[in-house]
Amino acid sequence: MTQTYNFSAGPAMLPPQVLEQAQSELLNWQGLGSSVMEVSHRGKPFVELAAQADRNFRSLYQIPDNYKILFLQGGARGQFAAIPMNLIGKKGRALYLTSGHWSATAAKEARNFCTIDEVNLLTQGAEQGIVNLDFSDIAENYDYVHYCPNETISGIELFDVPNVGNAVLVADMSSNILSREIDISQFGLIYAGAQKNIGPSGITIVIVREDLIGNARQDTPSIWNYAVQAQSDSMINTPPTFAWYLCSLVFKYWLAEGGIKTIEQRNQQKAKLLYDYLDQSHFYHNRVTRQNRSLMNVTFSTGNDELDAKFVAEATACGLQALKGHKVLGGMRASIYNAMPIEGVQALIAFMDKFAQNQ
Ligand code: PMP
Repeated sequence: MTQTYNFSAGPAMLPPQVLEQAQSELLNWQGLGSSVMEVSHRGKPFVELAAQADRNFRSLYQIPDNYKILFLQGGARGQFAAIPMNLIGKKGRALYLTSGHWSATAAKEARNFCTIDEVNLLTQGAEQGIVNLDFSDIAENYDYVHYCPNETISGIELFDVPNVGNAVLVADMSSNILSREIDISQFGLIYAGAQKNIGPSGITIVIVREDLIGNARQDTPSIWNYAVQAQSDSMINTPPTFAWYLCSLVFKYWLAEGGIKTIEQRNQQKAKLLYDYLDQSHFYHNRVTRQNRSLMNVTFSTGNDELDAKFVAEATACGLQALKGHKVLGGMRASIYNAMPIEGVQALIAFMDKFAQNQ
């Protein structure tokens, strides 16, 4: 069989070792004679799994004790609504910093629940970059400031954290959670769909500072009420147990591999290889300024739609899967999340080079 590499933006590839472990214990989890999918979330084995996942994720991502980790449902989009429902308070408004599709979609959803102001962070011009991130003079007029540090579709990443003074900073880290070291204490709330760096789809992680819990508006559904979920250890209803279990295996796997420093170092290495190749190429182009090139989603194009389509078709036939760019942008996108090995990036570059020479 040809070696395949899956560059999907999400659901994305998981570490093969995790899938092998899940496979090996699928029919008989922890000697129970049943799979993890078939046992109660209220039973001791699953409750212990959840507690261990909390401990391991906390240690892997260096999450301080005054933050709760919630494992919820409804995807990152569910949080687009849950965040204003839980965090809008006395000021009655939120500030949304937009830098592409996902931050703009979050802002649009929030408008259903509160008044928002929006600031576009993108610079104008041929290259896409980010304007200055100092909002300390206005941020405190808002109950929170929301942004998306990695725009999955365009491949724009914000490595600097916006300066919001003492205001509450909220980050949609769906596509860059656990990809590099961050200082969690700079954030009031971080959220992410699991399906890129953490596990399968169906589970959403919310890391929220404890003092922000407990102010949800009256009509907040209990499944998205942070106080209710924090109090019930994210089990107010039946959680997606299999997805949660896979996340727990992923946390263990990365801890054993050396933790967040190792993850970051590998991600830097993979992204550098690909961007260095793009920089010396006259055939492919990437439109993002150097300071904002995503470590996770690398977008490129030949500048010709037909050639891009040919590239994607031929790459797929060679085992390099899911390289088609998002429909709103076109071109190609290589998502090189934590689980993508460097060999996958090397194989992609070898293919790109051959394809360019053959045109
Ligand atoms: N935010 C970002 C940055 C994303 O990449 C995505 C999904 N690709 C979403 C939000 C939406 O996530 P979900 O499908 O889990 O609702």
